[in-house]
Amino acid sequence: MKTDKYDLIISGGGMVGASLACILIGYGFKVALVETTAYSSTNQPSFDSRALALTYSSGVILRNLNVWQGLSTTEATSIRQIDVSDTAAGGHVRLTAKDVGREALGWNVEARAIGAQLLQALESNECVSILSPMILKQVEIKDAGVLALADDLEGGTGHPLSAKLLVIADGSNSALREQLKFTPRSIPYRQRALVCRVETDRTNRGGAYEHFTRSGPLALLPFGENGYSVVWTQEPEDLDEVLQLSRSEFLVRLQTVFGDRAGQFKQLLGERKVYPLTLSHLKNFVKPRVVVVGNASHTVHPVAGQGFNLGLRDIAALAQVLRDSRNRGWDIGNIEVLSKFERWRSQEGEFVTWFTDGLIQIFANEYPLLTPARNLGLELLQLLPPAKRWLLARTMGMHGRQPDLATNERENSGKSR
Ligand SMILES: Cc1cc2nc3c(=O)[nH]c(=O)nc-3n(C[C@H](O)[C@H](O)[C@H](O)COP(=O)(O)OP(=O)(O)OC[C@H]3O[C@@H](n4cnc5c(N)ncnc54)[C@H](O)[C@@H]3O)c2cc1C
Repeated sequence: MKTDKYDLIISGGGMVGASLACILIGYGFKVALVETTAYSSTNQPSFDSRALALTYSSGVILRNLNVWQGLSTTEATSIRQIDVSDTAAGGHVRLTAKDVGREALGWNVEARAIGAQLLQALESNECVSILSPMILKQVEIKDAGVLALADDLEGGTGHPLSAKLLVIADGSNSALREQLKFTPRSIPYRQRALVCRVETDRTNRGGAYEHFTRSGPLALLPFGENGYSVVWTQEPEDLDEVLQLSRSEFLVRLQTVFGDRAGQFKQLLGERKVYPLTLSHLKNFVKPRVVVVGNASHTVHPVAGQGFNLGLRDIAALAQVLRDSRNRGWDIGNIEVLSKFERWRSQEGEFVTWFTDGLIQIFANEYPLLTPARNLGLELLQLLPPAKRWLLARTMGMHGRQPDLATNERENSGKSR
């Protein structure tokens, strides 16, 4: 059977793999995107109803990909301020778009809405072959390239593939990552996250909340005019109990825990969905002809909404390194090329992993001296604008060397929201 030749094979066409394919075809690469779950399936695990708080730089990247322009104003709600509070210590800090001189700190968008736009961009482009539902088998890493078979999960004929580079983007539990001997440091969190949407009796005005409780952080992200996406992280016993509550009892519980700062919770919209949470981090994420990206490379706690944002900046940087190397006539699967990418991005991956895990450890800790220290920390942050700017620059992806796609908004990429 004839082997189909590509520049890159991407294993995993979720949020990160599909975004990477979109960037690469814009740079003129030929890509095979191999995804196990059919995109038409309601079980597509990456393009689901989870709310993603996107940073300013992610918004710029997605606008440059022409992915953003198809989202309605309800689908992408601006986040203009974030109130951070701690139940036990009583401290509070407000971070606003004005603190960094932007019109928004970021946006709240459902993963499903971005996924639909990514798919639309990919399906209309002949430089990418979407191989789904398929899985890579017989992967061989050779000196000159990568060989693999895209096996059809519906019993059709498999496709032999070859490429210069294999990208592993198939999520936290990637079997291919293990098979190719990448060893992440992985620790499952006890906490799990409950995600849902609620309607309130007043407009949200772009306000988001991160409220730390003993059981875990409770985040409310503005959605549309008078709704919020809720990401409620809790210890298993607490979560199991909350899941037993009827829809109206659930709203009462949420109100009791959160208070009335966002108004009265009137209605629970859609279903409550639960996600297991893991901390997983690869120190080295490149080998000759192989790169690991997205959740397969770093999976972080959703507390500060960093996972996809980090993955997006990583792949924008990867695609830039590959484009520049190819333009110089270099082999994109060469370890020297890939090491450039690793050197560029490893520090930020370490920072985000450390920062998100640190927040969980500090705010879940009941050590008596830590409670006033947390209070003091939040109040000091409130009083010190340079400290706020430092924190926001890092969490909004505006610190250090940025990929071109995150900094230069192209003229034809449409107006910002
Ligand atoms: C509750 C919650 C809230 C979150 N909130 C935020 C937020 O506010 N902001 C933010 O930036 N991030 C957030 N995240 C993190 C974000 O969802 C992830 O970082 C992002 O989805 C990672 O995308 P990915 O494509 O790397 O992995 P995944 O989303 O796991 O996608 C992997 C894809 O690979 C496919 N696949 C699996 N195995 C194979 C295989 N063998 N071959 C081929 N394909 C395969 C899967 O079907 C899937 O489509 C949140 C996460 C959770 C759980």
